[in-house]
Amino acid sequence: MELRALLDRTAAHAANFLDSLDARKVPPSASVHELRKALHRPLPTKGLEPERVVDELVRAVEPGLLASTGGRFFGWVIGGTLPAALAADWLTSAWDQNAAIVATSPAAAVTEEVCGAWLKDLLAIPADASFALVTGSQTAHVTALAAARNHLLARAGWDVERRGLGHAPPLRVLASDLRHESLERAVRLLGIGTDAVTLLPTEPSGSLRVDALAVALEQAESAPTILCLQAGELNSGTFDPLAEACGLARRQGAWTHVDGAFGLWAAASPKLHHLVQGAEQADSWATDGHKWLNTPFDIGFAFVAHPDAHRAAMTTRASYFAHDAIARDQMEWNPEWSRRARGFAVYAALRSLGRSGVAELVERCTRHARRLVGEIGELQETEVLAEPIINQGLVRFLARDGDHDRRTDDVIARIQEEGESWFGGTTWRGGRAMRVSVCSWRTADADIDRALAAVRAALAAT
Ligand SMILES: *Cc1c(COP(=O)(O)O)cnc(C)c1O
Repeated sequence: MELRALLDRTAAHAANFLDSLDARKVPPSASVHELRKALHRPLPTKGLEPERVVDELVRAVEPGLLASTGGRFFGWVIGGTLPAALAADWLTSAWDQNAAIVATSPAAAVTEEVCGAWLKDLLAIPADASFALVTGSQTAHVTALAAARNHLLARAGWDVERRGLGHAPPLRVLASDLRHESLERAVRLLGIGTDAVTLLPTEPSGSLRVDALAVALEQAESAPTILCLQAGELNSGTFDPLAEACGLARRQGAWTHVDGAFGLWAAASPKLHHLVQGAEQADSWATDGHKWLNTPFDIGFAFVAHPDAHRAAMTTRASYFAHDAIARDQMEWNPEWSRRARGFAVYAALRSLGRSGVAELVERCTRHARRLVGEIGELQETEVLAEPIINQGLVRFLARDGDHDRRTDDVIARIQEEGESWFGGTTWRGGRAMRVSVCSWRTADADIDRALAAVRAALAAT
């Protein structure tokens, strides 16, 4: 078969899947066992025709897909994919550029430069901050904290890139007890070790306690310190007191890193911008494209207010200044070597939304989350645990016998079984809760109606 015919056929498969989202159940219909049966065939000795490979892949895989890209999925923090971003992502594979350096793809390098500038503008990050398009907030943490490690230890007279951490002055990391665990993994990967992490208590709302932070910063005042703040806590969407905390940290000489995987996008909305006030004073920031911006997966962003430290931590060149600068070599700022040209999908997402479209997406998801939590909260035998400040909220379901944890898990399981809509469970302050997380550009009022009907039916049936 001609390549063009194969691509047309594949586009039709993709469109068929996306067209089915409105009608299909959200959870997969196939079990893991069934998927193994369908996929785990002997590796063929002789290769197969591409169209057969693609057709069979679609048939085997589709029953095992979670329709998380659809409008009735409210689990974890998972966005959909905007049409323009999807199309640009297809082209990215067709163009097959290695976005390592300018020379391997000038187009990819320049596109990323533009994305970096647009993102800083939208997210209220200083225009002179350096940036990297990475695979997600996890690698954004690694990138940003590598810069922090370089900067803090250089100040203590230690070249960590050359000498390692073995005999270096010990670093210390402060974070709230509700930090995302990807932070601790970054700390582990960077050789700092989790013993260096002190977890600080939070207010009932989930936001870091400033009094506890002030005390912690004063203890071991001379130790090089990284403070990790959150813009958007995973369960409740709460923001740490960014302005106050950044101010305290700055006075102590600590490096402040903001985990704003999804919450940093509040900056793009004039109505929600106040939540991130103060974040612009931080030293580094991590956020995602694949959550609230609705790009395809494997797209996150790191920003660093100290470009020299960022570059020193990532560069592969012996001299940081030896290279001419016609355009930005991504490898100088990224932890990867060869890499996908993920800027094209970001560029397409941002251009297709525009500034007002990003604000509107953030506000719309927030409005949907508030409506879901508000209307669930009005039903009998329910309790709202966290009203959405942005697109995240928490509810639980009450049992006559007092075993609210069991009832909550039962209702969630029932909703998932019915498949009309999908919510996940979590543990909040020691008890079970149902998370309400709205991240998809696709979610419309009609999807919220259907989700509310599903919750009502599950409550009645448990
Ligand atoms: C999702 C998330 C992360 C991890 O981001 P990835 O893109 O999955 O690597 C980190 N922090 C918070 C608050 C998150 O929601």
